[in-house]
Amino acid sequence: MSADGSDFAAFQDLPIAQLLVKVATRCNIDCSYCYWFRDTSVYSKPKLMSSDVQHQLLQRIEEHVVRYSLVDFPIILHGGEPLLWGVENFHRFAEACEAISSRTGCELPIAVTTNGVLIDEGWLACFEARNISVAISLDGPAHIHDIHRRTFQGTGTHAAVERAARMLVSRKIGVIALAVCNPAHAPQHYVDFFAACGISNYDIMIPDATVDEKPPSIAAFYKGLFDLWLEANRTTSTTNIRIISDMITALLSNNSPTEGVGHKPVELCTVMTDGTVEAHDVLRIAGDGFTSTTFNIFDHAIDEVRNEPRWKAARDASINLCAKCRQCKFMDACGGGYLPHRFSKKSGYDNPSVYCDDLYAMFENMQSVLESHLYVSKPDGGRVNVRDPLAGA
Ligand code: SF4
Ligand code: SF4
Repeated sequence: MSADGSDFAAFQDLPIAQLLVKVATRCNIDCSYCYWFRDTSVYSKPKLMSSDVQHQLLQRIEEHVVRYSLVDFPIILHGGEPLLWGVENFHRFAEACEAISSRTGCELPIAVTTNGVLIDEGWLACFEARNISVAISLDGPAHIHDIHRRTFQGTGTHAAVERAARMLVSRKIGVIALAVCNPAHAPQHYVDFFAACGISNYDIMIPDATVDEKPPSIAAFYKGLFDLWLEANRTTSTTNIRIISDMITALLSNNSPTEGVGHKPVELCTVMTDGTVEAHDVLRIAGDGFTSTTFNIFDHAIDEVRNEPRWKAARDASINLCAKCRQCKFMDACGGGYLPHRFSKKSGYDNPSVYCDDLYAMFENMQSVLESHLYVSKPDGGRVNVRDPLAGA
């Protein structure tokens, strides 16, 4: 792909490949950095998804996977706090998805993103029985987590969430812990905490911010995290830190599996509790009603959202980068940064990420360290570092 021309033509139109389903619009805790409640329009939605909406959604899912002959169609149950929907609804929904899978041959892997506070034995049994994987929001140790993730009474939620995380990893449940980076604290605090909990699969995500804000620098934090990741995985692979593995994948192959890293279109469709369909969920960071569309699953098939102007604008913005990014040597790996981080009131998404300098430094550091660790095997069984022939050339 050219770094100086339009990038549109390089990306084929493909059917919606995964669904984010908002089964609850309220939350049982009160995180200070929550983007969801920045958009007050969420209060106009039903608190929970009704059985009518659930029924219609399942029909639309089946119709979609059959129409496009999909072999898999991941579904992420989300909120607010999705567990407020209740364990019986989770069982019913997952059971119906299993039935769709057996009728169509399309895998429908279900994941849930939860704050973990409500997890008990009943939920563990449900996740295990229905093969639902769990992303639990846990910002590392208590002194970091409890800064932002508090109850409505102002007390920390760490003890409850750590307990839930330990219960999850003790069972046959796919678990990832999702932390938000707080660059005021050393990455070692997070790495030590997750190791002590037995959590080997986690992410430390870049804090959400738009170009109109001035978030603190994150480059030094992620450089330290990368060093720790390298140390932990030097001889055998023991720890997956998603943002690190995604950035490496993006540098090596331009094919990072998660959005936010790499140059590729955002193809996500969000279904709300009332069946309305929305553009990328996290764009709420831009303010009231920013994601709402006029589409809903009663009147429209899932894939019709591709024709909706607001959804299309976000999708197009995700691949149509600003002039600075198009000239950047990390354009393919970075992709201009996470879409919400590119937003400004003045010029929409036509900006490099608010974290541009940090991202550039992070990719530069990773590239240099990776080069010093990459070897080419020689026919005589020896090996040569890729830098050596390059230096002698
Ligand atoms: S748990 Fe999630 S939805 Fe609830 S307040 Fe925290 S960030 Fe927001
Ligand atoms: S490092 Fe900066 S200029 Fe380069 S692609 Fe990322 S956001 Fe754009």
